[in-house]
Amino acid sequence: MKKKTFSRAERYAVWTAHGERCWLCRKPMNYAEMHIDHIIPEALVGTEELKSVLETFKLPPDFDLNSWSNWMPAHGPCNVDKKEHVFEPAPIILKYIAAARVKSNEVQRLHDRFLANRKLDVAFAQVIQAYEDKNLSSDQLMELAKVAAHEHTPNRAADMKDQPVLLAPGITVLRENTDQFILQGPSGMVGVRPKGDRLHSSWDCPSCGVTGWSGARCIRCGQFSDD
Ligand SMILES: [Zn+2]
Ligand SMILES: [Zn+2]
Repeated sequence: MKKKTFSRAERYAVWTAHGERCWLCRKPMNYAEMHIDHIIPEALVGTEELKSVLETFKLPPDFDLNSWSNWMPAHGPCNVDKKEHVFEPAPIILKYIAAARVKSNEVQRLHDRFLANRKLDVAFAQVIQAYEDKNLSSDQLMELAKVAAHEHTPNRAADMKDQPVLLAPGITVLRENTDQFILQGPSGMVGVRPKGDRLHSSWDCPSCGVTGWSGARCIRCGQFSDD
């Protein structure tokens, strides 16, 4: 069986609906590095084992392993750790599936809302692009920060509304003020970057490009601007 590949909208919906956290270690997780994990492993599709697992769990025989009820956001390494263990139909698994099923309508709504919101779609496409290219222009970063604040926030889980938005490693939008964004770099250092499309070039870091500053220190690479 061919493994499912996920669309941006599916990834966004699963990530947002489940509180932007890894379901395995419960820690916050950035969008770019997120994996989608199957609660009941995808490898069981079409096997006798799956039939008995579904019976054990009293799930319908046609329960779709590739559906909102079986998808959870996970860190890559947490996901790999889990795959090294033999799957056991423990009661806790059933609890997780029940929780995912309760959320499935909401995940579908988030998915549809993402597809209908061009700003969101463009912004998250850019996050992935920036993550892969390790490059982000100043205008793009500002646009991302704006979209994170204005388009993503209304979709977030209630307890996440005032939490940082982890877009990609080193691209974290903590919050915005009237005239600046508060950003967080990969090491956790917090800094500011003023709003505005035509910032003086000294707001960019000579080593790593677009960034925020904690005093004279770049929050992305840690260099001092007067080095
Ligand atoms: Zn994790
Ligand atoms: Zn730097």
